[in-house]
Amino acid sequence: MLGREAFITLATTNSYCMGATVVARSLRRHGTTRSIVVMVTPNVSEQSRLALQSVFDEVITVDVMDSEDRVNLSLLGRPELGITFTKIHCWTLTQYSKCVFLDADTLVLCNVDELFHRDELSAAPDPGWPDCFNSGVFVFRPSLHTHHRLLEHARQHGSFDGGDQGLLNSFFSGWPVEDISKHLPFIYNLSASSPYSYLPAFQQFGHDAKIVHFLGSEKPWSSSSRREGGHSHMEQFVSLWWREYNTEASAAET
Ligand code: UDP
Ligand code: MN
Repeated sequence: MLGREAFITLATTNSYCMGATVVARSLRRHGTTRSIVVMVTPNVSEQSRLALQSVFDEVITVDVMDSEDRVNLSLLGRPELGITFTKIHCWTLTQYSKCVFLDADTLVLCNVDELFHRDELSAAPDPGWPDCFNSGVFVFRPSLHTHHRLLEHARQHGSFDGGDQGLLNSFFSGWPVEDISKHLPFIYNLSASSPYSYLPAFQQFGHDAKIVHFLGSEKPWSSSSRREGGHSHMEQFVSLWWREYNTEASAAET
């Protein structure tokens, strides 16, 4: 049985679909042997969905709040956690035994299939608080049991940052100290938009980057970053993102 391992991303809006498209194209460009899957919400337009179908192996529509799950329904009073629950939905994809979640604002620069040798929950440190992992890139094992426990944890404790990262860090609370093999090198989730960044290290190691993460409110597809390119050492990655986005589109037109 092939395809039991997959890269998973998420897009709940048409603009995040642009990001998801680049995630899929960049994974394919570097020859992944795993399935490439996107979760979308019902509000995503038919046009965006069709575009995703041409680059992803599977487009899965998720509507967390329509779930029959009793725990979920009791969470309806916490609308700010909506996006969080949508991401957490990836644990229900039990047709796969192991997955790597990639935010839609990531760009893959080389083959990263070796990530499937890691176990749940593997992730890279967050640049703003390295004792927390960043939830833009993580290795996990789909499991309805874990999914249920995550929702239960959210019901009891909420999320300390209002998003998926706070929930996942408090659920996988052993991550900072327990098992170094679950610490992905920073080059698997390279971000540069934190208030503090270590510029000499970027100069020294930036060319080893394997996955770039356009963390923060400025995304490659937002017009201002198209004009200015954001932080200088990320500029080249923003133009690479646009090249990836445009290449396939123009190839399809010819
Ligand atoms: N996301 C989405 N729609 C939204 C916000 C987020 O689909 O309106 C998904 C998308 O996959 C995105 C991820 O959730 O990459 C996390 O959000 P984002 O990357 O914007 O957060 P950041 O990495 O900047 O903290
Ligand atoms: Mn992100």
